[in-house]
Amino acid sequence: MQDTDFSRRAALVGAGALVAAATLDLPGISPAQAQGVPVNQAPGFYRYKIGDITLTAINDGFGRRPLEGFVRNAELADVKKAMEQAFLPQDALSITFTTLAIQHGGKLTLIDTGNGDSGAPTSGTWMANFKAAGLDPKDVSSVVFSHFHGDHINGFRLKDGTAVFPNAEVMVPAAEWAFWMDDAKMNAAPDAMKGAFAGVRRVFGPVAKDVKQFEPGKELLPGLTPVAAPGHTPGHTVFALSSGNGKLMIMSDTTNHPALFVRNPDWSAVFDMDGPQAAATRRKLLDMVSAERMQVAFYHAPFPATGHIAKDGNGFAMVPVQWSTAL
Ligand SMILES: [Zn+2]
Repeated sequence: MQDTDFSRRAALVGAGALVAAATLDLPGISPAQAQGVPVNQAPGFYRYKIGDITLTAINDGFGRRPLEGFVRNAELADVKKAMEQAFLPQDALSITFTTLAIQHGGKLTLIDTGNGDSGAPTSGTWMANFKAAGLDPKDVSSVVFSHFHGDHINGFRLKDGTAVFPNAEVMVPAAEWAFWMDDAKMNAAPDAMKGAFAGVRRVFGPVAKDVKQFEPGKELLPGLTPVAAPGHTPGHTVFALSSGNGKLMIMSDTTNHPALFVRNPDWSAVFDMDGPQAAATRRKLLDMVSAERMQVAFYHAPFPATGHIAKDGNGFAMVPVQWSTAL
């Protein structure tokens, strides 16, 4: 992911921009920016309500991933076709990261924490966006994790060891903890996965004795109930949030980009640790939220990463919410 990023950035930094970049000492400056055209967006946060609960979607940038080899069980030509149908580029996929902050009853809860200072050069915008939303890391009372992949947990602890949310209790799926904290599983894992095990220990090691492990089906906080969604990882969890008539299914990594995996629920991204199990979970959850017309949030959907799911042929389509200027 990062190699592609660097080469893309190198391509963006054209001859003229190089001079400007050196002068301004800004990384990744684009030719447009070098010509004085602003290229930044407004801060990436978006608030919405489910009943009495206020949610804030917080963007953590994106990482680029070559399309080749990304979907394990589909031909590259078919994957490119799905990208074309969604008007997306056919060489690489921009995978966005969007966490949720939940405000209810004077408490501030986070679902996942983004990449922190450990992600792709095009991520790491989480804290700036969180603060721009008027939120303070010291006020976070609970951090709830969906699963233990780096893009979801690394924001909890900086590379130098600093705890980012000093006053928060930490809640993790028991099945996820059992898998990643098991030394035998780590030792038996292929080399390519050893880094992921080490990352989990880096993030959670210092708070291991205080972590609260939860089981699916038992309400964690008022209105927030974890639902087992295994396959992406062994303890991968989604969350049903309800308040009054409002219902939201926080789908975590049930799918990666909706244009590929909501559209084609039987496809498996390379990140799915158990492809067939992930596909079965995906179909079951997409069937449920489409039948019940529930609002959904996906960690890797285009920002603000919330919408609804409609049945469409043998698959589904994600319909984004209409952006609203006020709650
Ligand atoms: Zn993820």
